[in-house]
Amino acid sequence: MPNPLITHASQPYPLVASSNDSDPPSRRGDTIPVPRAKRRRHQPLKVANQIPQIRRKEIEKALEKGSKTPEKWSRSSSWKSHRIGGKLVKPGTVRHIEYDLMDVEIGESWPIPITIIHGARPGPVVTISGAIHGNELVGPLALTYLRAPSIIGEDKAIDPALVAGTIRIVPIVNMPGYRRRSRYMTDGRDLNRFFPGNEDSNTTSRVAHRLWQEIFSPSDHIIDLHSAALGRTNMPQIRVNLANRLSNRSARAFGTEVILDSEGPRGSLRRTADDAGISCITYEGGGADESDPEAIQIAMYGILNVLRSLKVIPGYPSRPRFRLLASGSVWLRSDYGGLLDVLTPAGSFIEEGELVATVTDPEYPGKSMEIRTPTQGLLICTATHPFVTTGTPIGHLLPIIKGLKTVRRRLDEEGLLVLSGADGDPPWREDDDIEDISVEGVWEGGSPDAEWGENPESAAEEEAEEADQI
Ligand SMILES: [Zn+2]
Repeated sequence: MPNPLITHASQPYPLVASSNDSDPPSRRGDTIPVPRAKRRRHQPLKVANQIPQIRRKEIEKALEKGSKTPEKWSRSSSWKSHRIGGKLVKPGTVRHIEYDLMDVEIGESWPIPITIIHGARPGPVVTISGAIHGNELVGPLALTYLRAPSIIGEDKAIDPALVAGTIRIVPIVNMPGYRRRSRYMTDGRDLNRFFPGNEDSNTTSRVAHRLWQEIFSPSDHIIDLHSAALGRTNMPQIRVNLANRLSNRSARAFGTEVILDSEGPRGSLRRTADDAGISCITYEGGGADESDPEAIQIAMYGILNVLRSLKVIPGYPSRPRFRLLASGSVWLRSDYGGLLDVLTPAGSFIEEGELVATVTDPEYPGKSMEIRTPTQGLLICTATHPFVTTGTPIGHLLPIIKGLKTVRRRLDEEGLLVLSGADGDPPWREDDDIEDISVEGVWEGGSPDAEWGENPESAAEEEAEEADQI
């Protein structure tokens, strides 16, 4: 099926076809359908063999600790109304509320929209958030489409009568930032560095506290949607702490090829949720101030995949052909100052020594310098802003040594990786059919984003600084 978001831009809503719930899924290319009943219900989680040994042991240990069977939701237990922000949502209904980021008697309370789909049957609470960074629009767009009348097939919206559990959709968390088209809150702070927040501290910390207490911590699962910060763009990818058993499961269920194993920055929603034992994954796709149709479509498929794998909505999750489980990366940097022209977009597979970008300088007309890659791999993020100085990162590369054949098979004629879901409805396949490919190394600076120079203070660091000043 063609990509509806890309090829039929005039359609009011994307039409996401899905496996028909009443038909057993069949493998594409196979004539014999796979009987579902024979599938193991709770398969042990696989840890890629080639993940660096130390990290592999950490993950295995953590997975063992929590190896109890997943929670079963009793159908006979009384399933009550869902309470959120002082409001009640009856089972089997959808409610749209406005939730105030600030509880104030006078002044702006910053209401944000939240849609709650409270299922007719018991199940987990899944909170899906966008625009914690106010200018990252892939999240808000994907979450708007998630409520579309044809999201799970022609004329099929998510029906609360068929939902087991509660889906809470928060398309724009940082409304003050969104209104100003800014990543930050009004006090210039990064909301995603201040969780779990503090009700007596600065504005951003107070908002984080309220969100954490009332929206995020009463969740079983969180999916947080992001895009790259201004000046760069991400190919669709999941970031997760693979040592958290439930997050690990959600990350795989999301169904996109690239999974970066990292803890997340201090004060981020993901790290805070992880520490509190709540499953949380971050999706990254596209760039700030951009509407990236492919990133939006993959986000929608991914959310549906996670909801299906949790049995919150009916149907079967689709899975990619392979997963790159990455624990490290290589930064491509400019050795020159000037204006950058990136020749290989994010998502390109590049060969060792390949020309990735050129740098020119209007002060030296006619001169052009080349930036070549030191190693082969997948470019997961590139700079989009042309200004560079020597040392500026211009790309973020996953060096790929293992599984090369598998990866190459999914490249288009331009050398771009065709992501699951990018070319239409992704196929269903067994989890055992997926090849796990590890990318070894370390995250320079501790986080996949650190080398872009974005190291906003966390609440703890800022408080330490304030204390020093007094
Ligand atoms: Zn973000």
